[in-house]
Amino acid sequence: MSTDKVADLLERNKEVSKSYKRPPPLGEGLEKRKKKGAKGTVIISCADPRITPEHFLGLNFGEAAIIRNGGGRTVDALRSILDLDSLGATGTVVVIHHTDCGMTYLSEEEFHDRVEKKHPDFAGRHPDFNYGAINDPEKSVVADVEYLKSFPTLAENMTIAGLVFDTFTGELKRMV
Ligand SMILES: [Zn+2]
Repeated sequence: MSTDKVADLLERNKEVSKSYKRPPPLGEGLEKRKKKGAKGTVIISCADPRITPEHFLGLNFGEAAIIRNGGGRTVDALRSILDLDSLGATGTVVVIHHTDCGMTYLSEEEFHDRVEKKHPDFAGRHPDFNYGAINDPEKSVVADVEYLKSFPTLAENMTIAGLVFDTFTGELKRMV
């Protein structure tokens, strides 16, 4: 076993790639969906390694696009939503925040202070950056859905839901 993480991952990939199943080309799938008038699903969730939507939503391979970032915040995810909707129409967006989220462990001010100390080059260039601290996931997920719905073309064309995942029971609760 290598002590170098990247080398370790490359080594593991060598094994996994032996039984890798080639997915259909993207263009083919997009054409098929277009003909059927099918719309895609996008899941926005936290980057926390414990939080895996593929698993807790029982998703099939290729069923939904998944965007993950710290907290599952929609401000970060919007670029990807627009990209995905440009490639193939998106019909449903599901925003998932979760309990025991790292984004609840620090306040917005604490994120600011830590970045200022560790990455003064970044903080200097972006003094008013929003790090996306969360107080209460039940409230932040509603605010994040509202942010997406504040764009009328998104609100009109997509079903946008906000859920909270209980990290310890594995259960989801719909907030909006
Ligand atoms: Zn989290």
